[in-house]
Amino acid sequence: MEYFKVVEKLKREEEFLWLNPQYEVQPTSPEAFDLSDVTEAENRWQRFAPLLKKLFRELEESQGIIESPLREIPRMKQKLSSKLGRDFFGRWFCKLDSELPIAGSVKARGGIYEVLSIAEELAQKAGLLSSEDSYEVLAEKSAQELFSDYKIQVGSTGNLGLSIGTMAAKLGFQAMVHMSRDAAPWKKDRLRAKGATVIEYEEDYSVAVQQGRQASQADSHSFFIDDENSKKLFLGYATAALRLKKQLDDEGVKVTQESPLVVVIPCGVGGAPGGITFGLKQIYGSKVIPFFVEPTKAPAMLLGLASGQHEKICVRDIGLSGKTLADGLAVGRPSALVSPIMADLLAGVLTVRDEHLAGFVRTLYQAEGIFIEPSAAASFALTRHQALLETLASNSATVIFWATGGSLVPEAQRGIYLD
Ligand SMILES: *Cc1c(COP(=O)(O)O)cnc(C)c1O
Repeated sequence: MEYFKVVEKLKREEEFLWLNPQYEVQPTSPEAFDLSDVTEAENRWQRFAPLLKKLFRELEESQGIIESPLREIPRMKQKLSSKLGRDFFGRWFCKLDSELPIAGSVKARGGIYEVLSIAEELAQKAGLLSSEDSYEVLAEKSAQELFSDYKIQVGSTGNLGLSIGTMAAKLGFQAMVHMSRDAAPWKKDRLRAKGATVIEYEEDYSVAVQQGRQASQADSHSFFIDDENSKKLFLGYATAALRLKKQLDDEGVKVTQESPLVVVIPCGVGGAPGGITFGLKQIYGSKVIPFFVEPTKAPAMLLGLASGQHEKICVRDIGLSGKTLADGLAVGRPSALVSPIMADLLAGVLTVRDEHLAGFVRTLYQAEGIFIEPSAAASFALTRHQALLETLASNSATVIFWATGGSLVPEAQRGIYLD
């Protein structure tokens, strides 16, 4: 599709599938990371597991590992199959990051990981952590005192703030979360209850990030976690791929060229879906076919990739508002770090209109008893794209719908989404 046609469709807020013409074309510059970076990140998670187990009762059973279930969704598949009058041969799964402990969203992977990296570096510099020590020592008073001298700041539409604020406050840091107008009030309340400071802005997400970054730069005892640029966030997200590989192996799923793995992930700034995609590509190569989903009003990554302008272009430049019910995806400009990495790794982007999100939330709940938030339900936009469904029906792909958040949504709010 020619670029001007893509922009026309975007401007008209049409739902469509953009296939990436650069997909699997040789990258012009070497990738910034490789598999060893991902395994190194996984090793950091493992080092912190004893501490996390000690700090959070909900992590006792998993021995301090923050991971989510992979759940097969045969009833959802059946529903669609009868609606469309065709059979789907492969197995369909939901990756329930909505149930990730502590943060209840995919942001647990990136946000908590970066907070732990900061804590590790500070503790090592202060001589509190030698190579033989169990990381449980970081729950002691000396470590809490050290961390209380430092701020960790972040700009967020909600879920990233929730993950970083909760973890940072638990370790003893001064957690400061700069939040945009889109952020749900219950997320702000929950953060304050966990001991974080919430700073609110009338403007959108990019202003919250910018203000947070500025506040942090002026302070030598402050770390800013930069959602638009962070390598740590990216690698934290990427470790999901190693965990998923194991879950697919346990399910007996064999990923081959003939039976590829199709993964559909909702995208905001691109950090979470980009990190996961990068990790999966390191493991499965061309046997994994990744798609992102973006709201028609905030197709930041699609515009960045299709134009080749990455973070230099914003949805407002083509007259779109960037406002959407999918608060986790309300982003106008893609990550400067992630967009170029996706240039040859991402198969395509689907766009979805806000009015369909509630329907997906309801259908998944009715079919499978799984509750996810509207942003997370964007994955099911796949079911609105006939051409893609036909391709899937004719081959035995395994499909994974990434359910990026929802378990912390309060009961009253759930009722509103489900009605
Ligand atoms: C943040 C978020 C995403 C997208 O992640 P990005 O890193 O912003 O692309 C998707 N779903 C939910 C629920 C989120 O909170």
